[in-house]
Amino acid sequence: TLDELLLSQEHYESDVRSYPRRLPLAIAKAAGVLVEDTRGQLFVDCLAGAGTLALGYNHPEINKSIVDQLESGLPYQTLDITTVAKDKFIKQLLSFLPESFANNACVQFCGPTGADAVEAAIKLAKQTTGRNTMAAFHGAYHGMTNGTMAMMGNLNTKSRRQGLMADVHFLPFPYSLRCPYGLSGDEGAKQSLRYIERMLSDDESGIQKPAAIIVEPVQGEGGVIPAPAFWLRELRRITQEHGILLIFDEIQCGIGKTGHNFAFEESGITPDILCLSKAVGGGLPMSVLVFNKEIDSWNPGEHTGTFRGNQLAMATGAKTLEIIERDGLVEHAHKAGMYLRRGLEKVAAQTSCIAEVRGKGLMLGIEIVQSDGSKNKFGEPVADPELTAAIQRSALERGLIIEKGGRQGSVLRFLPPLIISFEQLDFVINTIKEAIEVHVE
Ligand code: PMP
Repeated sequence: TLDELLLSQEHYESDVRSYPRRLPLAIAKAAGVLVEDTRGQLFVDCLAGAGTLALGYNHPEINKSIVDQLESGLPYQTLDITTVAKDKFIKQLLSFLPESFANNACVQFCGPTGADAVEAAIKLAKQTTGRNTMAAFHGAYHGMTNGTMAMMGNLNTKSRRQGLMADVHFLPFPYSLRCPYGLSGDEGAKQSLRYIERMLSDDESGIQKPAAIIVEPVQGEGGVIPAPAFWLRELRRITQEHGILLIFDEIQCGIGKTGHNFAFEESGITPDILCLSKAVGGGLPMSVLVFNKEIDSWNPGEHTGTFRGNQLAMATGAKTLEIIERDGLVEHAHKAGMYLRRGLEKVAAQTSCIAEVRGKGLMLGIEIVQSDGSKNKFGEPVADPELTAAIQRSALERGLIIEKGGRQGSVLRFLPPLIISFEQLDFVINTIKEAIEVHVE
């Protein structure tokens, strides 16, 4: 078995981190969508640095952009002092954004991690509005720092400590399958809007008017749940009417993954603040806020941090955006996403353990439930985290890396690089089918 092999594997001596425990392999080499482990087994990687590697591993032009920059004499650490590389990155990022947002935008570098961008967004929103509370959604994931974890609506193993800061209100996210109102589709989403608007209009509701509402246009860690476009538009209207800032966290769903440059674009509206990280740095650590100039309440140097000027990430980030546009990879993500979705839907039609195939573009998820059709007390299919883990493990044994997620750990998540081929997607679909068949008749 894989476990026996792993015990004999010198690279798997220390069981100190969560990912190796669930994805027990030691990577020796990687290229494109493929990973080779130290035993020489090949894997198709649909996790890809949690969506960080838009162009896959070791893209030759990305690697060359690092070497070129090192050889050009540009420094790789400048705090946040402007450089040629930084200028180029900002121009490239702004041209990747919708014009209406980019024309009036400030770009703020925030440090290496996504959580750094979210922390900066919280701070900016509080400073601009003079208010001290935030609102976030059930199922949300925004990072692992105190402030970001306070907005975590996804209480699985990643967030056992709740209530780190007591200034966050949680609002219902439009999760059709497990809607708090017992309504599926748009009806449940409309009820969530009604709740939000009702509470914000009621001074006695206990909800203090928040500085901002933060939302992932497609929840990732929370189980790959897209917010409907009309719901986002209504959220924009409500926040505007109440003078509340709207923050989109596209750290995971941004940069082409959903078949749009940014997931929010489908809704036709823009946020006040956009948080970006992961793929925006082309595989190297970087996070950025893009926000409307009108809410720029910071004095120069007011939001600082030593490692906010990762020059190599600016080079790889700019190059990544350039290649995505040049090679039409957003369009490819759309088409390839449809293909994967249809394939997964076919698998779902042949088994009783998939309650839903959902997502957008190449950011997809399948929710695994008890295959005997049992229902919980709310009349919903019962999430099956053990079966999910077993399918994940069987897929791994067959050469497919996929991540798990969801509030109950019962969603298999697909987040492959934008360059994944149709042939590779056939492998993904067949492998999932086989991995399920190991456990479910
Ligand atoms: N926001 C979202 C939507 C994320 O998916 C993540 C990471 N999974 C983060 C924030 C935090 O990013 P990081 O892990 O780089 O701090």
